[in-house]
Amino acid sequence: MYSVGSQGTSKVQAVEVTKALKRCRWPCAQDRWVVDTASGCSFGCLFCPVRWRGLAEGQVQVHVNVPDLLKHELKTRARDGLPKPEVIINASTDSFQPVQAVLAVTYQSLEILLSEGCKVHLRTRGEVPEGFGDLLKHYADQLSVEVTFFSMDNKLASLYEPGAPTPQRRLDSVRRLHAWGLEVRARIQPLVPFITDTVGHIEELVRHLRSVGIERSSASYLVLRPHVLDRLHGRLPHAHLHLIKGSFKGTAWRKVGLHQLTRVLGERTRRQGYARLGTVAERAGLKWHVCACQNPDMGRNCFADLKSEQAEPCGQLDLFPSAS
Ligand code: SF4
Repeated sequence: MYSVGSQGTSKVQAVEVTKALKRCRWPCAQDRWVVDTASGCSFGCLFCPVRWRGLAEGQVQVHVNVPDLLKHELKTRARDGLPKPEVIINASTDSFQPVQAVLAVTYQSLEILLSEGCKVHLRTRGEVPEGFGDLLKHYADQLSVEVTFFSMDNKLASLYEPGAPTPQRRLDSVRRLHAWGLEVRARIQPLVPFITDTVGHIEELVRHLRSVGIERSSASYLVLRPHVLDRLHGRLPHAHLHLIKGSFKGTAWRKVGLHQLTRVLGERTRRQGYARLGTVAERAGLKWHVCACQNPDMGRNCFADLKSEQAEPCGQLDLFPSAS
């Protein structure tokens, strides 16, 4: 590992990993593969489900050898007669965080995957820079993109996603992606009870999504994990904490599969919130569904045929971290 310096408030290090393509652990995308171009994330979202063990806040490790590994792994798969992998960039970081070394690895990885004919799904809470335009335009048919939104309220966004681009900049990025010919969907995540799930907040967000041509979105509520709760305690004003803790009152910590302790908002609160979103979305002409990974009891599969009206039920009784 060597340090490549700092960018903004992030400390950036270069590390080598042993594998580029990893099986996706999300229940709704287990036939897909994941490429993570970094560990750690400069966006520093308070609700981030991922715990980067051993990394301090603001520390980013760039997986510098991912492009070389990818070339090798794709060649080996082709030699073994395996199908081209469908790839998600990324699962446990944001590959479009504004750290030059991360963006460089993301660009090179995309170039390799796309030129090899792989389908790629991008997921980001950030902006896709102009410099990616020619590449993405050229391979638009192989790409789909999800851009994640929290709230159109700048104050709330900077409190909960302190390092992420403003919602307006994300909307500008969606416009660019559309101009490049890409299919773009939104993710509304996470809804925070009594804070971003009111009719006023939802209406404003949905209106802006529609204004940049977004036709589809998934949505899910905040999920608590011990490290998330600690972060909320350390960073949120008392009034916010009070509302969040009150909403989760009576819900128990559950150990889920091999994973961490988790608290899911009560079903009734979620159903009421999703019903509000449903009413607003229907009025605005936004097709939407509840994300099954975060709502195994009522959600649908985000990766089912994107063109169909109804995504498939996921049917997996587990909760998996899904960043960005
Ligand atoms: S939720 Fe996504 S964008 Fe936010 S800190 Fe985690 S990985 Fe980064």
